[in-house]
Amino acid sequence: MKTSIVGFPRVGELRELKFATEKYFRKEITAEELEKKGKELRTKHWQLLVDQGIDFIPSGDFSFFDATLDTAVLLNIVPEKYQALQLSPLETYFALARGYQGEAGDVTALAMKKWFNTNYHYMVPEIDDETELKLVGDKLFTNFNEAKAAGIITRPTIIGPFTLLKLATYHGSKQADDFYEAAIAAYAQIFDQLAELGCEWLQIDEPALVLDLSPAEVQQFKGLYQTLLAKKGNLNILVQTYFGDVRDAYQELIALPFDGIGLDFVEGRKTVELLQEYGFPNDKLLFAGVVNGKNIWKNNYQETLTLLEKIQSFGDIVLNTSCSLLHVPFTLANESVLAKEVTDHFAFAVEKLAELNDLKKIVTDKEGNQRLLDTNIALFGQQRFSRNEQVAKQVEALSEKDFVRQPALSERAIVQKDKLKLPILPTTTIGSFPQTKEVKQNRAKFKKGEISETEYTIFNQEKIAECITFQEKIGLDVLVHGEFERNDMVEYFGESLAGYLFTEKAWVQSYGTRCVKPPIIWGDVSRSNPITVAYSKYAQTLTEKPMKGMLTGPVTILNWSFPREDISLRESTLQLALAIQEEVLDLEANGIEIIQIDEAALREKLPLRQTDWHSEYLDWAIPAFRLVHSKVRPTTQIHTHMCYSEFADIIQDIDNMDADVISFEASRSNLDILDALKAIDFQTQVGPGVYDIHSPRVPSIEEIEATIHNILNKLPIEKIWVNPDCGLKTRGVPETEASLKNLVLAAKKVRGGI
Ligand code: GLN
Ligand code: ZN
Repeated sequence: MKTSIVGFPRVGELRELKFATEKYFRKEITAEELEKKGKELRTKHWQLLVDQGIDFIPSGDFSFFDATLDTAVLLNIVPEKYQALQLSPLETYFALARGYQGEAGDVTALAMKKWFNTNYHYMVPEIDDETELKLVGDKLFTNFNEAKAAGIITRPTIIGPFTLLKLATYHGSKQADDFYEAAIAAYAQIFDQLAELGCEWLQIDEPALVLDLSPAEVQQFKGLYQTLLAKKGNLNILVQTYFGDVRDAYQELIALPFDGIGLDFVEGRKTVELLQEYGFPNDKLLFAGVVNGKNIWKNNYQETLTLLEKIQSFGDIVLNTSCSLLHVPFTLANESVLAKEVTDHFAFAVEKLAELNDLKKIVTDKEGNQRLLDTNIALFGQQRFSRNEQVAKQVEALSEKDFVRQPALSERAIVQKDKLKLPILPTTTIGSFPQTKEVKQNRAKFKKGEISETEYTIFNQEKIAECITFQEKIGLDVLVHGEFERNDMVEYFGESLAGYLFTEKAWVQSYGTRCVKPPIIWGDVSRSNPITVAYSKYAQTLTEKPMKGMLTGPVTILNWSFPREDISLRESTLQLALAIQEEVLDLEANGIEIIQIDEAALREKLPLRQTDWHSEYLDWAIPAFRLVHSKVRPTTQIHTHMCYSEFADIIQDIDNMDADVISFEASRSNLDILDALKAIDFQTQVGPGVYDIHSPRVPSIEEIEATIHNILNKLPIEKIWVNPDCGLKTRGVPETEASLKNLVLAAKKVRGGI
């Protein structure tokens, strides 16, 4: 039995690639120095995989920015405007990734999208009718040669044509299948060249096979590969899928002359069933994704062995990760603060390699390796997660009425109007104000113990006062305190929640050079102490206007953490919801009449298959949000905020969150969402963002006025709020002040004109 992985984190143990790349961006190192760093990391990682006993070593999973972009560039999918810059290949590559502004011209970056159901983002290839898909790059070959020179025969990996062309956007009249012929020629050429270099296996990633596929798409896939695989010669081809099962295409997939098929047994709920129902051809290797490539927990060997016993009769098995290890932190070796009893349960990328190796040993020689198995059994026999009886009981005791706020939305609207006395088209912001250098320094100094808590707090209070003075001066209606005390939306709350753990170096690539360090849910979650109350209360004392309390919602906190696995996501989310509910009620008791509960990441974890949307997610995610605010007084106004307006397909569910007001990003999507809101007679009051906060550009009064009028053409005026697209933390002070001034003036002009 052999071992394999789908891919490895390229950013490096201590994010070396990130820092080198950013240095290159700042022109502190040359292109050669960056290339050298890349080579150094690749070699180090290959050697590490060899040392850990992995049999199939991937190459080509390394990237300076993104693997989908690499494949597009390899195949000449580079829009004319980037080619016209006439930059070096590396500079063109980064122009696609990040945009370019300089002597050669001015172009924006390719769009970026979430990679399936992960927090990783890929660059969306852009194709028009002039695109000439052909093999032009050499990364795959040079990387293979590089490893070969180091004595390691690797298995190059590449995104497959079906997935690549499905994920691309098309600007002309041609569609994906118009490029199949060219793709077949290009991939066939890759086969030839690799075979010539001495390559034995090529891994082609086709994760799009786990999506909902129409019969027509399945036929397209089949046709594409029938022709392509006829050209593979002696090269062995592994088709690799991940993030789910391939139920719509399984029969077609196993009938094709692949040499290996990679299936996900972790997220693929139906994978075993598919094998049982349709079998697995005995002339192919089954790359069984049994070690979770997304979580941070140790593998339960006994469970995996049971699974392997079930599937072993179907064919020759290669032990594999369920997906690329890109989605987990690099190694546990650099975590020095967390207790050993805790980290004993963790497996990051490097530790997962050891698990594959352990499993291989146990499967091939159970008696000789009984100790490995016993240790693992003993670990799982322990009480793993800290339980809190009270929390468990609270969740159990929840009943229907805990999820329903009384009275109904329309009645609440009347009492709130009476109480808050807001003008028509009320103006507000989403919460954060610019995080200037001083604001960040204040937090950093406090964390390092360089200033006292009093000094730290006084600074924040001064910033709050300044922020309120400004908001009052320009005439905003509902004020915020500015979030100067927060690093990010999840960590800030996690720090005051029992059951949360924080790592030191457990970074995961989010996109390009950006990495995130998700906190870990370790136990039952409960609120240790009030989190936001002091600053909100203080802020309210400084103004007569309503001060909006600002919280992160349970679904977003969960989605941006590493969840535990012994209880359901639903249960973890309900625990979080109860904790945030306490905070909501505390804010209310302390005189805060408007409370915003952000659900920025609600849309993110929608399952890949539409049939699972409700049963696997929305059926508990939406109620969890409702639980948070179900106990507030009718007069307390609950707001929520979502970062993307891409929720037309779940719009009824959003309305069912039963918030009083929702704000969302809308300016960049041409207010497309308004039609969907209108169509279902959306009940919640809405604040579609009237200007884009992702750019430093200051919108004019007239522009904002026009946007408001556009909104009013579609939706009733008594339901509309006027606000920016999102929080202002990444913006500078001057443009923020100018933009908000214009926003208020625009709202006033529209009010006056009605
Ligand atoms: N209240 C948060 C802020 O303004 C919301 C951020 C977000 O939606 N990502 O920063
Ligand atoms: Zn947002």
